[in-house]
Amino acid sequence: MRKQIKHYINGEWVESTGSETIDVINPATEEVMGKISSGTEEDLDKAVKAARAAFPAFSRSTKEERIQWLNNIVEGYEKRKEEFIDVMTDELGSPLTVSEEVHYPMGLGHFKQAVDSLAEFSFSEDRGGHTLLKESIGVSGLITPWNFPTNQASTKIASAIAAGSPVILKPASKTPFAAMMLAEIIDEAGLPKGAFNLVNGSGSDIGNGISSHPGIDFVSFTGSGAVGEKIMKNGAETIKKVALELGGKSPIVVLGDADVKDAAKTALSNMMTNTGQVCSAGTRVFIPQSMKQSFEEMILDLLPTFPVGDPWKEGIATGPLVSEDQWDTVQSYIEKGKKEATLLVGGTGKPEGLDTGYYAKPTIFTDVSNDSVIAQEEIFGPVTTIITYDDLEDAIEMANDNVYGLAGYVVGKDPETLRYVASNIRAGRIKVNGAETDFNGPFGGYKQSGIGREWGDFGIEEYLEIKSVHGMPK
Ligand code: NAP
Ligand code: MG
Repeated sequence: MRKQIKHYINGEWVESTGSETIDVINPATEEVMGKISSGTEEDLDKAVKAARAAFPAFSRSTKEERIQWLNNIVEGYEKRKEEFIDVMTDELGSPLTVSEEVHYPMGLGHFKQAVDSLAEFSFSEDRGGHTLLKESIGVSGLITPWNFPTNQASTKIASAIAAGSPVILKPASKTPFAAMMLAEIIDEAGLPKGAFNLVNGSGSDIGNGISSHPGIDFVSFTGSGAVGEKIMKNGAETIKKVALELGGKSPIVVLGDADVKDAAKTALSNMMTNTGQVCSAGTRVFIPQSMKQSFEEMILDLLPTFPVGDPWKEGIATGPLVSEDQWDTVQSYIEKGKKEATLLVGGTGKPEGLDTGYYAKPTIFTDVSNDSVIAQEEIFGPVTTIITYDDLEDAIEMANDNVYGLAGYVVGKDPETLRYVASNIRAGRIKVNGAETDFNGPFGGYKQSGIGREWGDFGIEEYLEIKSVHGMPK
């Protein structure tokens, strides 16, 4: 049982001013695996005060100092690899291999990238008639979701440190422990007191408190659209800058010349990785009508290569969903899907032999219409939809006919057609033929998938204000 009921404020672990705690549930056992503090308004005020006090010196720190702090974090992070894997497998139910090969390196990658981006970054530029200065935006509030416990917090923290912005982090209360490990690592990295603070608590108390706090200048939020809307409304009262990384319902466009196995692999890895709890997951698969049968056969053939089960067991690719709520949501979408489309495999209920834990059956719908609920709304579970097309222009039109625009995928051979589709999907990140992720590539959404960009140099820009100085002495 992990009991970590302190907050990290002004360079030290401190008791909460309140006595309430929040239980953290292990999704594979449904048992309480830990407790955190349910922070109070007073705790948040203390953290904001510490961050504001840190601001003048932290915002004027040099590039070299920031690079040193980030490198210290990288070193501390790498030392605790095994613990990170354990904690994420415990709190998120992420299979050991996924914790090791996806979650661990993603969190680390952002700190390493921030070092590289910062080394190249220019905070001042002579633009002829004026000098342009980029300066820390002030104090930033960071609110993160549960689905990528290190990735989401790390990209925000790394960019904020690179920009010299002191932060208050509120991690998701379902998966707080990886973020608390990050706080321990940062504690040893030599940052000035108050530059990094972590306050645990519920979204309605601490999250809401961050978005309305007059002492916070910028809120970087990752999570659902419904909460994003509340944050924008709250932020408006004090004219805060707000960056939102929200949901998605991303298309995978399979070209007529695609290898059917490559296409099926792309569809399955999007559906099964992290139990489908990925904001950028491609869950609308557009395939040529002529490929329908071979694609369905291939995807059914390959499905067993993603075994579902106990995240601690070797060879498991997909664990449980994070919580009972999430399981219920996924079930209700599968119910809806059965009325709207043809169930190719899966369905409601738990997979055989997995009665304890929030396990869902991998579920694939075919003969799906792009305007059905299961094709339009984010499900956040191991569920995908197959939609056929006759004409590529129709496929692109359907791919864009959705309120979201976070990501897109294209699979095929002809370079010109691949470029054409990549350029015409209205989304912030496109992957062609399962390309590797570049940590310097901006991440963020078009349309209702959000406002702003994270990762790499674009991520740093979010934490900066722009100043033009006219007549700056040379
Ligand atoms: P969520 O319910 O919106 O929660 C996200 C964070 O906001 C949590 O820390 C939560 O705290 C907090 N929160 C809840 N209510 C709040 C309020 N009224 N004011 C301020 N903060 C509040 O989302 P989730 O269920 O954790 O995550 C799933 C969603 O995140 C999906 O829609 C997914 O697509 C999206 N997502 C987007 C990206 C991206 O980069 N675009 C990445 C990952 C996930 P508690 O934990 O205490 O509830
Ligand atoms: Mg939630």
